[in-house]
Amino acid sequence: MLPVLGRPQHAVKAGAAYGDRKSAMTYVVTEACIKCKYMDCVEVCPVDCFYVGDNMLVIHPDECIDCGVCEPECPPEAIKPDTEPGMERWLGVNREYAEAWPNITRKGEPPADADEWKGVPDKFVKHFSPEPGKP
Ligand code: SF4
Ligand code: SF4
Repeated sequence: MLPVLGRPQHAVKAGAAYGDRKSAMTYVVTEACIKCKYMDCVEVCPVDCFYVGDNMLVIHPDECIDCGVCEPECPPEAIKPDTEPGMERWLGVNREYAEAWPNITRKGEPPADADEWKGVPDKFVKHFSPEPGKP
């Protein structure tokens, strides 16, 4: 069982400014992010609700305010609303690892081979790393 971390203070403040609430809907990061990790999404999120793993980012479902601004910023189209069919699995992945990985608020250096992994199928099964990343 991975440790559950507290909600970061900055997210609490930002969430309050946007009418803090537990959302019924959220955006989630899917496997297209794995090994791409461009991090354009991080720069635009108004509530800093992205968390970073070794080779993927996730969104904390309770902190996301469903603004949708990150979705078109993602080059491999990895970010989806959880209302789309088949998103239950990704909602679980996002929740589990958002509670285990560190918060990330600034875009870092994408992997040198990020473009080579764009569009590669079955990345979660073959390449997902549960290890935390560096913000
Ligand atoms: S922009 Fe897309 S691929 Fe890049 S880190 Fe965010 S979700 Fe992942
Ligand atoms: S939709 Fe994207 S940008 Fe908006 S709060 Fe959620 S994760 Fe952040």
